[in-house]
Amino acid sequence: MLIKNVIEDIKKTMNYSISYKKAWHARAKAIKMVFGDWDESYRQLPKFMHALQTSNPGTIVTWKHRYTGHTTIMPVFHFVFWSFKPVIDGFRYCRPVITIDGIFLYGKYTGALLVATIVTANGKILPLAFAVVDRESLESWSFFIQNIKEHIVMDRQGVTLISDRAESILAAMRRHWLNPSLQFVGYHRHCLRHVCSNFNTHFKNKELKQLLWKAGSADQRRKCNGYLDQIQEINQEAINWVHKMNPEDWALAYDGGYRWGVLTSNDAECFNSVLKGARNLPISAMVEFTFRQLVKYFDEMGAQAETDVRNEFQYPREMQRTMEEGIARGNTFKLISYDRPRRVFEVQTSFRRGRDCNRQIVRMNQPTCSCGKYEIRHYPCSHMLAVMSECGDNPFQYVDPIFRLPVYMKVWETKFNPIPHQVYWDDPQWNLLPNEVRLR
Ligand SMILES: [Zn+2]
Repeated sequence: MLIKNVIEDIKKTMNYSISYKKAWHARAKAIKMVFGDWDESYRQLPKFMHALQTSNPGTIVTWKHRYTGHTTIMPVFHFVFWSFKPVIDGFRYCRPVITIDGIFLYGKYTGALLVATIVTANGKILPLAFAVVDRESLESWSFFIQNIKEHIVMDRQGVTLISDRAESILAAMRRHWLNPSLQFVGYHRHCLRHVCSNFNTHFKNKELKQLLWKAGSADQRRKCNGYLDQIQEINQEAINWVHKMNPEDWALAYDGGYRWGVLTSNDAECFNSVLKGARNLPISAMVEFTFRQLVKYFDEMGAQAETDVRNEFQYPREMQRTMEEGIARGNTFKLISYDRPRRVFEVQTSFRRGRDCNRQIVRMNQPTCSCGKYEIRHYPCSHMLAVMSECGDNPFQYVDPIFRLPVYMKVWETKFNPIPHQVYWDDPQWNLLPNEVRLR
């Protein structure tokens, strides 16, 4: 519940206006009544995490403590990382792209929630791992990235991380993700939304910002360059700023396929629908919240995938729709065959008389299309689909396995287990103190 709604409610029921501060404290009290005391919540956390791991084996929880105390040494909370077993298993059947971002936590103790998410073959955001840390720093990002690598990515090679360009993230990434001595092939791409907002901080011009977004999200270099030319016409300094970045870091058309079409790291959908409300809760309640959200998510997505199987789709529903639309568009194109056995075709997408007809060259034997989308998206563009329709070929084999329904079904295969009632929890024999108390 938003603070302004608390104020409105009191106004309506009591006919009295309260201050923002009073409403904030009232909400904090209400949260405490429902979810328990903030300090108690820290003490509960080891026990709750232990119950989570016992009921859902393979779930990862790692801690980083500081120690304090004169007579008895007590661990003080510093960082905690968690990721649920079904999601860790599911990741193996998803595109190798992880986006990371941090959000500020509200409540009695300040802190940040770090979240790693992936995008499913159906285009939905799925939270993959979490950490609560004191603040975003080189140390906390290093902790998060190392845990992701060790417990989630494991021996999978060629995984891309997408993030904003905060110096602490970049430094952690250089150490734990891109470091050649790691014997691990990892890539890094920048979140386009963050790039555009950094850009806007410098140039404070909505039109320029929109052009940069269009350039970054365009899937053909010709189009990307067109938008960059428009930026240059408006402001030479702005284009100099853009050219200081490596094009592959921020522009989809130059990315080489490593971001699999994923543009941003903090999709509003994720933080609003999956994590909305989490940031106001005491820590144990917040972890439980992420657990319950994912249980619900797995149930809904698994059921949806089963419906897709019953409908005899070849791909998850969004992908099915994309493919059907591509085929329909492909049927309006004009094809000229150059080498039918090798499937080399010129595809004309508009047939205006004269020289300005748009054409692409498709070579299914490689397979490539001059539009460049196949390399970026890992499934055929409408030009390739047109050639396959013409030759009676099935596109299925040209669609990356992660976009195929039988593989997508496996994402939801490992199930969550219910957590037993609190009275059945084992005591892990250790307690935790909250991090440096910073009362608001
Ligand atoms: Zn194409």
